[in-house]
Amino acid sequence: MAASVPNHHYAYDLSVVLPVYNEEENIAPVHRELVEVLDELGLRYEIIYVDDGSQDASREKIIALAQASPETVRAVLLRRNFGQTAAIQAGIDHANGAIIALMDADLQNDPHDIPLMLRQMEEEGYDLVSGWRKNRQDRAITRKIPSRLANRLISIVTGVHLHDYGCTLKTYRREVLDHVRLYGEMHRFIPVLANAAGANIIERVVNHRPRIHGQSKYGLWRTIKVVLDLMTVTFLTKYNTRPMYIFGGMGFVLGVLSFISVMVTLVSTIFYGDPHWYSPWPVLAVLFWLFSMQSVLLGLMMEMLMRTYYESQGKGPYAIQRVINGYKYVPPPLSEPLNGEPSANSAAENAR
Ligand code: UDP
Ligand code: MG
Repeated sequence: MAASVPNHHYAYDLSVVLPVYNEEENIAPVHRELVEVLDELGLRYEIIYVDDGSQDASREKIIALAQASPETVRAVLLRRNFGQTAAIQAGIDHANGAIIALMDADLQNDPHDIPLMLRQMEEEGYDLVSGWRKNRQDRAITRKIPSRLANRLISIVTGVHLHDYGCTLKTYRREVLDHVRLYGEMHRFIPVLANAAGANIIERVVNHRPRIHGQSKYGLWRTIKVVLDLMTVTFLTKYNTRPMYIFGGMGFVLGVLSFISVMVTLVSTIFYGDPHWYSPWPVLAVLFWLFSMQSVLLGLMMEMLMRTYYESQGKGPYAIQRVINGYKYVPPPLSEPLNGEPSANSAAENAR
């Protein structure tokens, strides 16, 4: 395949980002296979390994790879285990390619899918090609079944219809990723966030292999976290600029209920003599009123928080110990500082 996606604004055509947590036996074979595939593409590529605080020999192996190939391999070493999503974000922040491919470092994803995904992006003009592990090789009870349910739920709630959000193997146009900051288990929601930013998305069946070395780091608990993240993502994509519509709306409805309760209390007192202290209405009036006020105040607070959230995006959900062969690291731009001075935050980032 000819140079697939020439883009001379970027230092590389392709950055492959792999999060690594205790994968000592997988690193050498993954790297070998990946380099084999990438060399054939004739692209300018870089491979970024993010060590997510491994306790085994993974870190040393990654460092050795980076030292052996300073032109193509970078190592981003995190201070402790921050989780797959944070590791992925750290890798993206250090990537310089026009296209970014994410994949696992456990040999379960097949790098041979990458060229096909790139071709689909180029020929059909997609911004994001998302892998679908149609023939998934993981445990049925703890992984496949909960994940199938979660996928169905995400598809219904978000309106972005994919079969497999959790597959790490995806290729992205860089610009798509510049729009999203990842927290929690959110790397699987990149397509949803990207869709909200107007990206062109397609799903593609990819090869999936059983894990031979090392252990899966997840069980059932992750599916629960995913469902909680789904709420955040829905909020972010549907109401991100107007939290007041949710909380203010709730406050409004409760306010009306409170008013009705007051009226019922008054009417029954005036027309039927003594106030009915055993009646629920006075209590409800107070309750509804309190909740109503609370909701509105909460909405306003969220409104402020949301602004802070966006404006402080220069800060990552991870801490870096060391970067080897770091090519360039430009933290995402902060919004205009009010007083025209760079914030303490960005100064600290630049000094790194
Ligand atoms: N991973 C990570 N940090 C973690 C857990 C996992 O960087 O805290 C990496 C792991 O090394 C692998 C990828 O994320 O490269 C996917 O992990 P795993 O294979 O355990 O997940 P599964 O394939 O079972 O969903
Ligand atoms: Mg795996």
